[in-house]
Amino acid sequence: MKKLLLSIALIATSWAGAQNNTSYWQQHVDYKMEVDMNVENFQYTGTQELVYTNNSPDTLDRVFYHLYFNAFQPGSEMDVRSLTIKDPDRRVGDRISKLSEAEQGYLRVSSLYQNGNDLSFEEVGTVLEVELDQPILPGEKATFNMEFEGQVPEQIRRSGRNSSEGVALSMSQWFPKMAEYDFEGWHAAPYIGREFHGVWGDFDVKLSIDKDYTVAASGYLQNPDEIGHGYTDEEVEAEGDTHTWHFLAPEVHDFTWAADPEYIHDKRIAADGTVLHFFYKNNDEIKENWKNLQEKTEDLLLFFNENIGPYPWDQYSLVQGGDGGMEYAMLTLITGERNFGSLVGVTAHELAHAWFQHLMATNESKHEWMDEGFTSYISSAAMNQVMETYADNPHTGSYRGYMQLANSGAEQPQTTQADRYDLNAAYGAAAYSKGAVFIAQLGYIIGKDNLDKTLKRYYDEWKFKHPTPNDFIRIAEKVSGAELDWYLNDWTRTTATIDYGIKEVTKADENSTKVTLERHKLMPMPIDVTVRYTNGEEEMIYIPLQMMRWEKPAEHENWTVADDWAWAYPTYELKIEKPLSEIESIEIDESQLMADVNRDNNLYTAEETSAEAGQ
Ligand SMILES: [Zn+2]
Repeated sequence: MKKLLLSIALIATSWAGAQNNTSYWQQHVDYKMEVDMNVENFQYTGTQELVYTNNSPDTLDRVFYHLYFNAFQPGSEMDVRSLTIKDPDRRVGDRISKLSEAEQGYLRVSSLYQNGNDLSFEEVGTVLEVELDQPILPGEKATFNMEFEGQVPEQIRRSGRNSSEGVALSMSQWFPKMAEYDFEGWHAAPYIGREFHGVWGDFDVKLSIDKDYTVAASGYLQNPDEIGHGYTDEEVEAEGDTHTWHFLAPEVHDFTWAADPEYIHDKRIAADGTVLHFFYKNNDEIKENWKNLQEKTEDLLLFFNENIGPYPWDQYSLVQGGDGGMEYAMLTLITGERNFGSLVGVTAHELAHAWFQHLMATNESKHEWMDEGFTSYISSAAMNQVMETYADNPHTGSYRGYMQLANSGAEQPQTTQADRYDLNAAYGAAAYSKGAVFIAQLGYIIGKDNLDKTLKRYYDEWKFKHPTPNDFIRIAEKVSGAELDWYLNDWTRTTATIDYGIKEVTKADENSTKVTLERHKLMPMPIDVTVRYTNGEEEMIYIPLQMMRWEKPAEHENWTVADDWAWAYPTYELKIEKPLSEIESIEIDESQLMADVNRDNNLYTAEETSAEAGQ
């Protein structure tokens, strides 16, 4: 509990700071739920008491709850979208349309009260629309009490029963969840494909289930001595047929759990004190991988602690379940029947989301590239170290994904709502690949040291909050001193591409050479030029982008800063104070961190030119 108290102290300070400097505010929820799960028919009933604090400057006369499980019914928006999109997710396909009544999912609210008064409400697909009895004034609290009942759908997407690997219950998006209200108003988005934007708060959940089931959950188990199942080393005598598990999850925006009668439950205490829990099926084919994963998970955790900021909770659980990999509060569900590299890779990705979604909680449906892209960036960097690959650029996969997208004709800007991409593939490349390149390329623009500092300050200022793209780029501006609004705008809000080339290299006079560079595409960039000389020397010439009003700190021992290049000029003349005969090669962005869509025109070599001259 020590780390948690510390983190709450940090939240209090950062909120006070935010109030002084900006108008940032966020709503707050405290949930208390009691749930009974029937493992025979996969139906459950629950009660929920929700104390909602309106920290906004607005008076609220309506509220909205997400009822995610209603997506798993024939004719739902998720179903119809999957049937009509050109490249449906193979896990979904037409499977929802074929669910029988006993296999479908549902989540129904049977009663709802505000401060003891009966409320009228309407279930509209995956959203519950509620008219309030009394408006909630700025700064006021309201207490909502509800009864609900649900049925867990067959495992199709993220959550469900009887996963393909035989996990009984993967329970994400399972309870009526208050939609987020922020500076942009309500976000009562239907559940079509992509979903996270939740309200921060504390969850107190009591879950009654068949005593043979081992439960993994967001939150700390409060009654391990009554439960056993690997949460205590003592033998526990079960009374009755069910166990009631009591979990507390502080300062999260989601609560997820999973359960199976055959889970093996291992624990490992990491060097920073975090208790890592591992839940996986008793299956001989995967056991060794899941044992070996445990040390790697600790290595990954320590990498993220060092390169972003300390993991603030005392516990993290890696749980076999779901349909691939999906991050939740203090926990992830991943499929477990993988080769070892893939198992560590999915763990690196989902664990990184504990920072880029469950601490810096961006609105995933609006800014999908911020959580998926940042996560892809930092998990590639972590894998490079933890798996001892040590590549110079661990992000080449992301660059390839982005190049393919940019040259495909199917690219939509990253500001596209996550469900509104024409193709799932275009969503994936924009969010994951182009999102990771956004960060790696920022390292090219402001320098690696500034990028590293930016990620740490982003954590310091935005953990336990909902940052926006502008909040991130402002941190990068403050850390570096450079103007970067052009980068955020052109990269994330347009499909403009980058192509700089060497147009001509000619003799200026006996002692100097003229290099003409050309900008072929719309996106501006500062330019690094590497010049190699016949005597073996090497020089890095940096051409600042004028609109940045800034120069990058030296990144090479032989570093020359040339005149600014103002974007509107399509060409630029660079003078090198050496005769043409002493130049071996000239290359634009040797690091390949600038996402130049056509690298064919980036390199000049002396041999090539003489060979051409000989033809
Ligand atoms: Zn992800």
